[in-house]
Amino acid sequence: MSARISVVEGDITQQRVDAIVNAANSSLLGGGGVDGAIHRAAGLELLAECRTLGGCPTGEARMTRGYRLSARWVIHTVGPVWRGGDHGEDALLASCYRNSLALAVEHGIHSIAFPAISTGVYGFPLGQATRIAVAEVRRFLEQAETIEQVVFVCFGRRAYETYVAVMGYPLNSLGQLKADP
Ligand code: ADP
Repeated sequence: MSARISVVEGDITQQRVDAIVNAANSSLLGGGGVDGAIHRAAGLELLAECRTLGGCPTGEARMTRGYRLSARWVIHTVGPVWRGGDHGEDALLASCYRNSLALAVEHGIHSIAFPAISTGVYGFPLGQATRIAVAEVRRFLEQAETIEQVVFVCFGRRAYETYVAVMGYPLNSLGQLKADP
């Protein structure tokens, strides 16, 4: 199972996968953080296609082409804004992962990279968000045989170490993976 899920530290726009997931806002018209980076790397045609979609509700996902990205597709999903945890945040974040993966299956996508949805400007606590991300992806992969590779792309060391810990990988004293999981 773990062989189909990997964790890397890096920039999601540089990933060589069939689809990258964007942590978008509900307008789908671009923003800061990972959304801004994806639009900058993909070029203005991405924004033009996004304009045709009419937005996306929180927890759902929409797909576009990747334009100048090496990824052929971008799956835009809208994570919940953290409002203390009592406003359905966990369930909405889980549905971002499920709906993104469901779109990937529908379109015959074999490899997909996720950022840490909602953990930037939207303020979702990183550890809790990571546990949800890992649990949802693991559960989904049990019944989705066409998806061969899911990559969690961590922007920075703190996110990387959190993902590695939640995945249960052993780290050495330098914070490096001891062995391939
Ligand atoms: P949200 O509004 O869903 O919180 P953000 O873009 O603010 O979205 O942050 C989501 C996560 O994406 C954060 O963990 C942030 O560090 C990360 N991030 C920002 N830029 C990139 C990038 N180029 N590649 C991968 N992850 C990124």
